[in-house]
Amino acid sequence: MATDIPELVPHKAFDTILTLDFGSQYTHLITRRLRELHVYSEMLPCTQKLADLDWTPVGIILSGGPYSVYEDGAPHVDPAYFELGVPILGICYGLQELAYRSCKDNVVAGTAREYGHAQLQAKSVNGHVDRLFENLEGEMKVWMSHGDKLSKLPDGFHTIATTGNSPYAGIAHESKHIYGIQFHPEVTHSENGTTILRNFAVGICGAKTNWDMGKFVDQEILRIRKLVGEKGQVLGAVSGGVDSTVAAKLMHQAIGDRFHAVLVNNGCMRLNECETVHKTLTENLGINLTVVDASKLFLDGLKGVLDPEQKRKFIGGAFIDVFEAEAKKIEDAAAKSDKAGKIEWFLQGTLYPDVIESISFKGPSATIKTHHNVGGLPKRMTEGQGLRLIEPLRELFKDEVRALGRELGISHELVMRHPFPGPGIAIRILGEVTPERVEIARKADHIFISMIREAGIYDDISQAFAGLDSNKAVGVMGDKRVYGYMIILRAVCSSDFMTADAYPFTNEFRKAVATRIINEVDGVTRCLFDETTKPPGTIELE
Ligand code: GLN
Repeated sequence: MATDIPELVPHKAFDTILTLDFGSQYTHLITRRLRELHVYSEMLPCTQKLADLDWTPVGIILSGGPYSVYEDGAPHVDPAYFELGVPILGICYGLQELAYRSCKDNVVAGTAREYGHAQLQAKSVNGHVDRLFENLEGEMKVWMSHGDKLSKLPDGFHTIATTGNSPYAGIAHESKHIYGIQFHPEVTHSENGTTILRNFAVGICGAKTNWDMGKFVDQEILRIRKLVGEKGQVLGAVSGGVDSTVAAKLMHQAIGDRFHAVLVNNGCMRLNECETVHKTLTENLGINLTVVDASKLFLDGLKGVLDPEQKRKFIGGAFIDVFEAEAKKIEDAAAKSDKAGKIEWFLQGTLYPDVIESISFKGPSATIKTHHNVGGLPKRMTEGQGLRLIEPLRELFKDEVRALGRELGISHELVMRHPFPGPGIAIRILGEVTPERVEIARKADHIFISMIREAGIYDDISQAFAGLDSNKAVGVMGDKRVYGYMIILRAVCSSDFMTADAYPFTNEFRKAVATRIINEVDGVTRCLFDETTKPPGTIELE
């Protein structure tokens, strides 16, 4: 059986802009912005040789990067790309690389670093600006982040845009489709950045704007069917979260009941979570699901465990044990049926940011690490039992997964659900996880989230939850002194979960939440709101 179906992978099925990554912290944004324009784009490290690529991009972008092109060991692009005849755009380091290729003296250390906003003027020749700046007459704000600069124009190029500090803020080749810009169009601080990327991708490269989840679904279903074959079976873990639900629904659409979903109840899930997931996945989405109640095993094992890392390790390990045992049962049952073959595949909800993380350019000496197994599950299963990975979301960003979910008919509520950690409430309870403490955190969380939903602000918040402090505090309830638990309420806004700000609730909302939790959850005497940003805080408590 083939390991993949080459003609159905996105970079063959869609016009693709290849972004070569020189290590900038913004490279992934180039890919995202293009996809938002419905142009498919993939990122590869700058060390990628054209000869090793088995597909042809319609255009190439050279990203920014932390090196100076003239320093020893700085990365350089494979010259073969310039023979390919497709348009090339260099951004910041990418621009400097274009200039340096032509002559090593073209790039020098600047006298002043330029970091932040600059006013860019596209140069007009005979009343026309260059195609890269089409429809962008007049000054515009752009965002710069560089220390080096071009000392002169490379041979064959002319200037297409300037700023006060950068006479070569934009350059273009006289006869070839090669462009360079000193600023970063991919960051939102650059006004018109998206238009510039569209002018390059659509106007200059001629890329079709056909990347959308409707097209992706049809093609991905075809790919899964061909990959798995007519009898092949696939196993996968679901959590009730967006990614695993979308992946599971896609598998179901492709191969029906030959996809087996398993939900492990680790005793640390949200209130009514297992019942809700079971109902949604089976009744609404028609997915073949087994729920394994292992809550006792998990809660027994967590007794006396105080260290956060220990908790995570125990839960991760126990999860694999339970999952493997269940997989064995499903496999034995499958072996008896003549309608289906052996379980040969394991579904994994890897997303594109995980792929980017593992292939982004970390420096000339750093070896590119192979992709880690997201969720930490399968190594033992894939290597030990010879299961092969199937990763249908591997090319998608989170917002694309959500769009795909909508395309597959998954409800708005589920598609917009906040992320929930694998170890569940256990890492939101500081200190020992006991059934009583899980119950308290769970009830408080339910009230908090319900009130957020009722207030109509759920979709404005990226993640919210109620945690439990390890200490107790005194309160007076009904004239009686009580010594009760302290609930920690955390809600954050974040675009990428790398940085986050606390959500600014109104005082009325805070008071209303605190009152309800203290009144309705037995044993709680205090509610504290966590205002910490990330960094230095993390989103979860442990
Ligand atoms: N390191 C180069 C400079 O300082 C390029 C910076 C970048 O690509 N953002 O000029």
